[in-house]
Amino acid sequence: MDGMMQEQPLIVSGILTFAERWHPTVEIVSRTAEGSVHRYSYADLGVRSRQLASALQALGVAPGERVATLAWNGYRHLEAYYAVSGMGAVLHTVNPRLFPEQLDYIINHGEASIVLVDLSFVPLLDQLADKLSQIEHVVIMTDRAHMPSCKLANVHCYEELLDSGSRAFAWPELDERSASALCYTSGTTGNPKGVLYSHRSMVLHAFASQSPNSIGFSQRDTVLVVVPQFHVFAWGTSFSALMAGAKLVFPGQGMDGASVYQLLREEQCTVSLAVPTIWMMLMAHLESVDGDLPALDRVVIGGSACPEAMIRTFEERYGVKVLHAWGMTETGPLGTLNHLQPKHDALDADQQIAVKLKQGKPIYGVDLRIVGEDGEVLPHDGETFGRLQIKGHWICSGYYKLENDTSVDADGWFETGDVATIDADGYMQITDRTKDVIKSGGEWISSIELENIAVGHADIQEAAVIAIEHPKWDERPLVVAVRVAGSTINSVDLLAYIGRFVAKWQVPDAVEFVDELPHGATGKLNKLSLRQKFQGYKLPTAD
Ligand code: AMP
Repeated sequence: MDGMMQEQPLIVSGILTFAERWHPTVEIVSRTAEGSVHRYSYADLGVRSRQLASALQALGVAPGERVATLAWNGYRHLEAYYAVSGMGAVLHTVNPRLFPEQLDYIINHGEASIVLVDLSFVPLLDQLADKLSQIEHVVIMTDRAHMPSCKLANVHCYEELLDSGSRAFAWPELDERSASALCYTSGTTGNPKGVLYSHRSMVLHAFASQSPNSIGFSQRDTVLVVVPQFHVFAWGTSFSALMAGAKLVFPGQGMDGASVYQLLREEQCTVSLAVPTIWMMLMAHLESVDGDLPALDRVVIGGSACPEAMIRTFEERYGVKVLHAWGMTETGPLGTLNHLQPKHDALDADQQIAVKLKQGKPIYGVDLRIVGEDGEVLPHDGETFGRLQIKGHWICSGYYKLENDTSVDADGWFETGDVATIDADGYMQITDRTKDVIKSGGEWISSIELENIAVGHADIQEAAVIAIEHPKWDERPLVVAVRVAGSTINSVDLLAYIGRFVAKWQVPDAVEFVDELPHGATGKLNKLSLRQKFQGYKLPTAD
């Protein structure tokens, strides 16, 4: 017997229609590439997104066609999101921080016929122009007064194009399983891989973000969206915040400590999302100006492991709750978030930190497991390491146009490439990437755990731990560390410090101090390049 309830497709334009109708006056504040601060409302976003969709249709954009964006966080980028997905085309957000050869690979692989580009990325696109033969139109996201000169063909001015569109454009009723957006993984090895989202997966992910066990956006929130819109739709905020009727604040390209601090204070932001590197810059700035964050209620920290010192500083010094989150381009991105349970209230601060350092529990809609070398499912005891697998409503079912794709098994489990533990309460903790874990004498040593301990030392600014080949143990850990300015800490002292927290056999064999560590396009440590740099390194214990 069928139920007798209404059914409407879960499509992205429905989020905009709701926000426009029920939260029309909620503000969207953007720092623009032209230098000004722009303000308008959800109602304005609705009108302009329809105009843009109508104008893109007039340019010949057809359903299913890819429309690429190369842009910072801002209201025009948000309009592109809703216009492109809403009209049935596929929004392809391209990460402009990638290397040029990755950029042209991604744009060509995605087969976009049109690119919407921020003023600041016009030179980058200009440089790639010869390689992007399938691009028919370039739309520069500015007004006529700021249009730059460039070599690109078929260039349009965004504001003029938008003006030519009809405000009466009607969003088509799409199949919720149809593709809405395309993102590529940053890919430290091999070519970047495409993840093709559906309307349904994006709407369900946005629903899940509202849960108090997740980010819990509400109409009382003002959200500073620091995580880039080109990185999994700013972790889905571009949809979830609208669903909640929350005010949005976009920093444009100003992601340094001073700019983030200014927006947090001036717009009285209650929640913000970013990777640890951004928060480190904010911390340094707060320290230098003796600042405070009275309006900020919580920060979502993910993308890489949140260091203990960061949780302590946010919570103990500034009264801001840290929500440690884990996810991937392939997982929507939100997979797990860390909230304490009532029983944790009885723990002392140090015991609570030990829980908060974990990446948290899955939110409804996804399921997790850890498996061993032979695929056997491992116990939730908080100690056993295994390959982390995930399945759920917003987890990819394979990569776009990838042959011989083995990322998802026959039962629908996606192989994350992460190594993790899961404890008896269901809290997952990433201990490594599969390729970064150090295999010493048949035991696994977590590089991330050692890094977290090293940066917990007041004299260490940043640290990476990599495996070095060892004649007896196969692999042993090497710490590559950046000292805090002015510090003279030596390797003996740092290793002694690490030895206070881990078993003797897990203490690294050596430390190399460097001026800076290499990072990839999304701010993560580039361990591949470190491994190359230290290939053949002779450990003092190797003889
Ligand atoms: P990306 O697809 O670029 O977002 O990268 C996803 C990867 O980032 C994951 O597979 C993890 O290795 C890593 N990652 C994301 N969040 C965290 C976190 N909170 N702690 C540790 N690693 C993380």
